[in-house]
Amino acid sequence: MNSIAKRISDARIAKGLSQEDLAEQAQINIRTIQRIEHSESVPRGKTLRLISAALEIDISDLKGSMNTSNLNIPNIDLPRIVIVGCGFAGLKLVKKINTKHYQIVLIDKNNYHTFQPLMYQVASSGLEPDSIVYPIRKVFKGKKHFHFRMAEVQNLDTETKRISTSIGDVDYDYLVVATGATTNFFGLENIEKYGFTMKSLRESLDLRSVVIQNFEKALTLSRIEDRLKYMNFVIVGGGATGVELAGALAELKKNILQKDYPDLDLNQMQIHIVEASNRILNNMSENASTKSYKFLKELGINVWLDTIVKDYDGDLVTTNNKNFETKTLVWSAGVKGDPIENLEDTLNKHNRIKTDEFNKVIGYGDNVFSIGDVACIESEENENGHPMLASVAGQQGHHLGKNFNLLAKGKEVQPFKYKDRGTMATIGKNKAVVDLSFYKFSGIFAWVIWMFLHLMLLVDFRNRLIVFINWSWSYFNSDKGLRLIIRQVKREGES
Ligand SMILES: Cc1cc2nc3c(=O)[nH]c(=O)nc-3n(C[C@H](O)[C@H](O)[C@H](O)COP(=O)(O)OP(=O)(O)OC[C@H]3O[C@@H](n4cnc5c(N)ncnc54)[C@H](O)[C@@H]3O)c2cc1C
Repeated sequence: MNSIAKRISDARIAKGLSQEDLAEQAQINIRTIQRIEHSESVPRGKTLRLISAALEIDISDLKGSMNTSNLNIPNIDLPRIVIVGCGFAGLKLVKKINTKHYQIVLIDKNNYHTFQPLMYQVASSGLEPDSIVYPIRKVFKGKKHFHFRMAEVQNLDTETKRISTSIGDVDYDYLVVATGATTNFFGLENIEKYGFTMKSLRESLDLRSVVIQNFEKALTLSRIEDRLKYMNFVIVGGGATGVELAGALAELKKNILQKDYPDLDLNQMQIHIVEASNRILNNMSENASTKSYKFLKELGINVWLDTIVKDYDGDLVTTNNKNFETKTLVWSAGVKGDPIENLEDTLNKHNRIKTDEFNKVIGYGDNVFSIGDVACIESEENENGHPMLASVAGQQGHHLGKNFNLLAKGKEVQPFKYKDRGTMATIGKNKAVVDLSFYKFSGIFAWVIWMFLHLMLLVDFRNRLIVFINWSWSYFNSDKGLRLIIRQVKREGES
């Protein structure tokens, strides 16, 4: 029983009232009283006032026992949906929920939404970070009964229906966990220690600095072997992220670094993609793999298939069949769910929260939901759940929002069905691959489609305009203006 439920129950019993008596005196439905005393619902607004009047207790006394005021969220007479995470899933969910029926509390550790598919362009000096992020408060400006709090959610208590965050606790009537994914190093501790990743904006910015720092450093080294270590890049993972980053680095080499570092022989710069399976883009069609392999080769990128990375000591990458000397290993070979604590009982082998087709977390009652990368609807036709993609996350957010609206009207909720509209990847200027269910194509047309879609998917007009101007400038001038080291990155062990 949570503390407010206990306080009300104790006060009722002390006055010699049954639940029915209290319901009658307060003129509240008996079900509401039962739900409150069973910790299934937290009384707010008018309900709270009526109960405190019937029990003759000061309302502030009752509020004090709720422990919700620490996030300073008003108690109103609407069910509260707490949403953790404002990625693609959380964003679409909040947009869809009708706040005539619900109060929304959105919590994210950042005060911005990140368009992750373009992070590789930040890492390769193609775009400024502010063109791919958007302030959360601005997205939902003017939305009624909506409250955003910047905090890291740590824990969940389903008994008391409360989550604890870095800035305090908050109660919920419904909880939606949409915390996305994190890098999976598969237990390779040295890779985690010495390698670089690109799973957040901060990491992408670090990578941008590292790339440029490498060339500044290489210039100062007299021994060729030492120089090459700074000029070689090993990207582990031949999925869309690895392939797109490799392509962007190759463009950077051809168009920028040659001019910026005339004292270095840029022909010596090597970009390697190391992939454990027998083809790159292995979640796309054979056609996309073959075409992208050809594009990578044209850009001078080395692709090593059937090659499994074993270790990395900050200088040497060891694999099952070839070793690479490099100061820069980028790990894009795996992700796993990034859930909050106390959902352990329902995690699958990829650390994703198992849900049913209504996005309800399995085994956690009727009011805990999970969507996006962190969630997994396992079914017979989809053993590993849906792919961890922005399109899946967005569709799930939109769908769950619709279901909340149906629920408020007492209508039947609908199961989630993913509409696969295709996948794509770009491998540098004029080069992309697109897989649609009815047509697969590549080359310049695919690249134009890729650009158009990514522009349209950005959150608002300002972002689209900035990205469009940047891309147009780079296209016609082959120049990326953003090769800046704003904050020096220290490698592990560097002083
Ligand atoms: C480099 C890269 C390239 C990609 N390219 C593509 C692509 O081309 N096409 C595609 O479809 N997909 C792509 N993806 C995958 C896509 O970005 C994800 O599928 C999508 O972001 C998932 O959305 P989400 O809402 O589930 O999670 P996310 O977008 O990851 O959002 C999770 C949110 O939760 C917040 N959060 C996490 N933990 C906590 C906590 N404890 N407390 C508070 N807040 C928390 C985070 O700050 C974040 O805002 C790419 C991903 C990466 C990393």
